[in-house]
Amino acid sequence: MKYAQSILDLIGNTPLIKLNHVTEGIKATVLVKLEYLNPGGSIKDRIAAQMIEDAEREGKLQPGGTIIEPTSGNTGVGLALVAQQKGYKCVFVVPDKVGEDKRAVLQAYGAEVVVTPTAVPPDSPQSYYGVSDRLVRETPGAYKPDQFSNPAAPGSHYRTTGPEIWQDTDGRVTHVVIGAGTGGTITGTGRYLKEVSAGRPESDGGVVRIIGADPAGSVYSGGTGRPYFVEGVGEDMWPANYDKSVPDQVIAVTDADSFAMTRRLAREEGLLVGGSSGMAVVAALQAARDLPESAVVVVILPDSGRGYLAKIFNDQWMRSYGFLSGGEETSVGEVIK
Ligand code: PMP
Repeated sequence: MKYAQSILDLIGNTPLIKLNHVTEGIKATVLVKLEYLNPGGSIKDRIAAQMIEDAEREGKLQPGGTIIEPTSGNTGVGLALVAQQKGYKCVFVVPDKVGEDKRAVLQAYGAEVVVTPTAVPPDSPQSYYGVSDRLVRETPGAYKPDQFSNPAAPGSHYRTTGPEIWQDTDGRVTHVVIGAGTGGTITGTGRYLKEVSAGRPESDGGVVRIIGADPAGSVYSGGTGRPYFVEGVGEDMWPANYDKSVPDQVIAVTDADSFAMTRRLAREEGLLVGGSSGMAVVAALQAARDLPESAVVVVILPDSGRGYLAKIFNDQWMRSYGFLSGGEETSVGEVIK
């Protein structure tokens, strides 16, 4: 009989797929890693499993404990999934710009959701960091994983995401493109791939180049942290888990370009992914433009498009923010009366 012992055993080992349509005119091989195939629907399942395991081992999380975390949704789903299987309660603090669908998913897994305003400074007591700190102080047996500083987050990518990319490309990967939010993915995956390729001769691709993809306006690409609509990536401060020495280059991408590519990935490649995936592909295609045929570019696609149907995949929402330039409308068909 072939079966998994629990849903937790299905985290990681996601496949690589070649892009065939949006890559027109590009000689390099561009592969995407489909993190939405994790059981919770995003790359964050990996860090959730690792943060909870480490907390248990270090005695920071006791039986009957409560996990409290400020999260834009995906980390919450991962934590809710792992916590539920291990018998912990979960409370999540999310900014109000996060779609209702994402909040409903957290509640469906049995977690409690607290919503906070986006338009307040990060040091305000009303910010999602401020509110979660207060809840941790007031809840007995509370544990805050803190994905922004927890070494288990980059650690999980160093242990799993990086090695998977190296193995699945037979050690031929030359460039990896990763959108940074907390920085855990780029730091852990990038560090592993640079180390493992350190001695590789230039004729075989040399040391793997790590390229950050960032929403225009975020600090990673030199912005001030001004708001943007792509969810889950970019920052208005520098988190501890973002190691500046890992990316060789960071490419800024506008919301409009990110969303246009996100829609193309669904229509042309059959990949229904989120806005940070579209953003990473825009950066990857820009980086790949001048690369030779021998280059192997891997792009991490962090989550599914299901959580963005009312936004990126909704013409009215896109048009209201000026993100549709015409000719990209979704076909609505004719209503037959
Ligand atoms: N894309 C999405 C949709 C995310 O939720 C996240 C996590 N915040 C990321 C990308 C970035 O991952 P990381 O936090 O590891 O930088």
